[in-house]
Amino acid sequence: MPIMSADDFSIHREDCPVVDDGMPISDLPDEVTSIDDLECDCWSDFDSLDDIPA
Ligand SMILES: [Zn+2]
Repeated sequence: MPIMSADDFSIHREDCPVVDDGMPISDLPDEVTSIDDLECDCWSDFDSLDDIPA
Protein backbone atom coordinates (compact mmCIF):
# COMPACT_ATOMS: atom_id res chain seq x y z
CA MET A 1 0.00 0.00 0.00
CA PRO A 2 1.42 3.43 -0.90
CA ILE A 3 2.20 6.00 1.77
CA MET A 4 1.51 9.71 1.41
CA SER A 5 4.12 11.81 3.19
CA ALA A 6 2.70 14.13 5.82
CA ASP A 7 5.46 16.62 5.02
CA ASP A 8 5.07 17.26 1.32
CA PHE A 9 2.25 14.92 0.21
CA SER A 10 4.63 12.97 -1.99
CA ILE A 11 3.78 9.31 -2.56
CA HIS A 12 6.08 6.52 -1.50
CA ARG A 13 6.25 2.79 -1.17
CA GLU A 14 5.37 1.35 2.19
CA ASP A 15 8.98 0.45 2.92
CA CYS A 16 10.48 3.69 1.60
CA PRO A 17 13.35 4.85 3.83
CA VAL A 18 12.64 8.51 3.09
CA VAL A 19 9.18 8.71 4.63
CA ASP A 20 9.04 8.95 8.36
CA ASP A 21 5.59 10.18 8.95
CA GLY A 22 3.00 9.29 6.39
CA MET A 23 -0.53 8.12 5.84
CA PRO A 24 -1.28 4.85 4.07
CA ILE A 25 -3.49 5.34 1.03
CA SER A 26 -5.36 2.55 -0.68
CA ASP A 27 -5.24 4.13 -4.15
CA LEU A 28 -2.87 6.43 -5.91
CA PRO A 29 -4.23 9.97 -6.33
CA ASP A 30 -5.91 10.81 -9.64
CA GLU A 31 -3.08 13.24 -10.37
CA VAL A 32 -0.71 10.30 -10.68
CA THR A 33 -1.10 9.18 -14.26
CA SER A 34 2.31 7.73 -14.95
CA ILE A 35 5.25 6.30 -13.06
CA ASP A 36 7.09 9.56 -13.75
CA ASP A 37 4.66 11.34 -11.42
CA LEU A 38 6.07 9.31 -8.55
CA GLU A 39 9.31 11.16 -8.02
CA CYS A 40 10.91 9.23 -5.20
CA ASP A 41 13.60 6.67 -5.96
CA CYS A 42 11.61 4.08 -4.04
CA TRP A 43 9.51 3.60 -7.21
CA SER A 44 12.47 3.01 -9.48
CA ASP A 45 11.92 -0.76 -9.42
CA PHE A 46 8.78 -0.25 -11.47
CA ASP A 47 8.59 0.57 -15.15
CA SER A 48 4.96 1.61 -15.17
CA LEU A 49 2.01 2.10 -12.84
CA ASP A 50 0.65 -1.25 -14.01
CA ASP A 51 3.63 -2.98 -12.43
CA ILE A 52 2.83 -1.69 -8.96
CA PRO A 53 1.09 -4.35 -6.92
CA ALA A 54 -2.21 -3.22 -5.45
ZN1 LIG B 1 9.99 7.10 -1.40
